[in-house]
Amino acid sequence: MKSAEMKVQGARAVVVGMARSGVAAVELLMEYGARVTAVDQSAVANPKLVELGVSVRPQEAAAFEGADLVVLSPGVPADLEVLQSVRGRGVPVVGDLELASWFLKGEIVGITGSNGKTTTTAMTGHILKASGIPVQVGGNIGTPPASMVKTSRPGQWNVLELSSFQLETISTFRAHIGAALNVTPDHLDRHYTFEKYADAKARLFENQRADDFAVLNADDPVTRGYGERTAAKAMFFSSTGKVDSGAWLDRDQIVLDGQQLMPAAEVPLRGVHNLENTMAAAVMARLAGATHEQIRAAVMSFPGVEHRLEFVRDLNGVAWYNDSKATNVDATLKALAAFPGGLWLILGGKDKNSDYRPLAAAMKEKVRGVLLIGAAADKIGDHLRGIRHGEVSIVKCGTLEAAVLHAHASARSGDTVLLAPACASFDQFENFEHRGREFKRLVNALLTKEPGKN
Ligand code: ADP
Repeated sequence: MKSAEMKVQGARAVVVGMARSGVAAVELLMEYGARVTAVDQSAVANPKLVELGVSVRPQEAAAFEGADLVVLSPGVPADLEVLQSVRGRGVPVVGDLELASWFLKGEIVGITGSNGKTTTTAMTGHILKASGIPVQVGGNIGTPPASMVKTSRPGQWNVLELSSFQLETISTFRAHIGAALNVTPDHLDRHYTFEKYADAKARLFENQRADDFAVLNADDPVTRGYGERTAAKAMFFSSTGKVDSGAWLDRDQIVLDGQQLMPAAEVPLRGVHNLENTMAAAVMARLAGATHEQIRAAVMSFPGVEHRLEFVRDLNGVAWYNDSKATNVDATLKALAAFPGGLWLILGGKDKNSDYRPLAAAMKEKVRGVLLIGAAADKIGDHLRGIRHGEVSIVKCGTLEAAVLHAHASARSGDTVLLAPACASFDQFENFEHRGREFKRLVNALLTKEPGKN
């Protein structure tokens, strides 16, 4: 029996958090012969658990008695009080990623960062697939790592999008290729300080060995620093200067491994940040065996990812874009940078203890109007006070619908309306996908203004 199976076979395992990743962990553990207890802070009725004959117990100390192993879903804070005594008894407490990594066959590509993970993960998977290299994609992006075990094979690449929460709870997880795209303030409500958040992401590189690779953004001081904290070979990407090994932007050309890859204009996604994502994906795909030609062709056919600077429609010469996934200030700054001007920006939602002041400077000369929605509207309005009166109109709209109607009435041909709210969505929506879909529904319902008609 392999050591992973030995750790699990017959063990009493408690899985905390019964959303998708937790349920996948329950299934995996049961498959390998563990006796599983499922725990959640609220009552969960999941048909998969019913099928497995597993009932969900309340998140109380009693549920953890006699446990040999505790597995946490990424949504569960690792510092829960109830886990302290479990750890005190020497019981291993690991995340679902760590658990899955014990069983995954094939090599692992792990991609983390504050922004761009999903885009880069999807693009890396797309390039490998298009190049005929066996690959499966998952992690934070869709299929939980534990659900990828069954379909994993030796010689296949497991391309994983990894959040700081998943990385926080690893112990032996090791990626053959790890990438850090950027680290900017986000999720400070759960990691408390920027340093702790940056340290959680750095864990991606801590178990790497000399024959592994760390693909790092050279323009970001935090990710650049990760190169000194890993045994892996550091490879870099940069949109501002030359790098020795990796990819960089040489004026209008992307250079990979010292050889021209493609003109930047051929990348079908907007914004310099997407060139950075593309360069990261290209470096990883090259390491996994794709050629320059294969990478170029695959990048050109990459369809993009929903809710990330997604073009919705052109209406009377006004372009509408859905960037509902811009749930933090940095993502909104990148969205602003991706357009030349004439913008109507929809901002707001649930505040994540963010500082919105950096947006004010970026808006000048680019943004005609800001339409504020949701719970954070007052705070954002306050933080934007630095903008001189009359320069940018700031309107409190309350709802997304009111903001869309206001933008429709105000925007002129040549303008762009952009939903890039810099906030979480949970005050008015189920999640950012729901917010993005609502936006698209509202925008697609707007009627074309025909001359002479109402
Ligand atoms: P993640 O999975 O890390 O949240 P996404 O690819 O879903 O990343 O993008 C999240 C948001 O950040 C979107 O608004 C997107 O336009 C923006 N974004 C994408 N790539 C980057 C990047 N490299 N730097 C900054 N913002 C980015």
